[in-house]
Amino acid sequence: MSTLLDGAGIARDIRAQLAARVARLPQPPCLAVLLAGDAAASRIYVRNKIRACAEVGVASELVELPGTVSESELQQHIEYLNAQERVHGILVQLPLPAHIAAQNCIDLIAPAKDVDGLHTHNLGALFAGAPRVLPCTAAAVMELVRASGVDPRGRRAVVVGASNIVGKPAAMLLLQKGATVTICNSKTVDLGAVTREADILVTATGRPKLVTRTMVKSGAVVIDVGISRMADGRLCGDVDFQGVAEVASRITPVPGGVGPMTIAMLVANTVAAAEAALRPHC
Ligand code: NAD
Repeated sequence: MSTLLDGAGIARDIRAQLAARVARLPQPPCLAVLLAGDAAASRIYVRNKIRACAEVGVASELVELPGTVSESELQQHIEYLNAQERVHGILVQLPLPAHIAAQNCIDLIAPAKDVDGLHTHNLGALFAGAPRVLPCTAAAVMELVRASGVDPRGRRAVVVGASNIVGKPAAMLLLQKGATVTICNSKTVDLGAVTREADILVTATGRPKLVTRTMVKSGAVVIDVGISRMADGRLCGDVDFQGVAEVASRITPVPGGVGPMTIAMLVANTVAAAEAALRPHC
């Protein structure tokens, strides 16, 4: 039977450490959140992010835009926020309405204010092995791996899911920690044969219960990023928790695993951006 990796509890500890850093700043850091449209899930995520900021003393500004907002209008908001000294972090809540090219908008955020770590420059720096701002969910995955006590160096890591937001950056961070990394996607043949190789298994697909007990090596660390809402309203991860918990050594729950850690990483990036803004520029 595995030990639970308590993301909610670790996130609470991280927020307490961040509150102490914020208290040393001359003014509170400020996160601006752009929310386009009224998708219920996005609203919940934004509310949770703003709540976590408030808990550590980070101010936030919510810019709510209609789902019909044009790409150029959204970009004007980003440019305005880039120019505001009081704003240290800018977050564009994803997904954006289908008519807007998300990466175009993210790439307009000043890289130093890109606290989601998804600007092409920040992703490029990560892939080049010199990370600046880490993508929040990938950073959350690594914090949970650290909490597992298992050193990735020399281990086999498998990441299921290859998005720019989660899968690819998580794989890069595992690689940089010395793991031998395999990335799977929806075209992978015999997924179970690959996942059974993993000492550290990270899943980020959004396919509920895709990973079952027989697909997991005994003693593996399992980090479940996936979040799907089931017909009965409950949240479900990519992992069949009951079955996999019987073979894994450590496992994250959904909810209460990667989700709260991702938000803690967002707040951490915002605090770091505010600290960096105080340092003299060369
Ligand atoms: P995405 O749709 O952009 O990417 C999904 C990836 O999974 C793709 O690379 C796809 O090829 C792969 N995939 C799909 N079906 C597969 C299968 N059967 N076998 C192997 N690979 C398969 O999604 P995303 O933005 O990376 O998000 C993935 C999941 O993580 C979603 O459930 C999302 O809600 C969740 N998520 C959670 C957090 C968090 O904080 N907990 C943050 C971001 C995303």
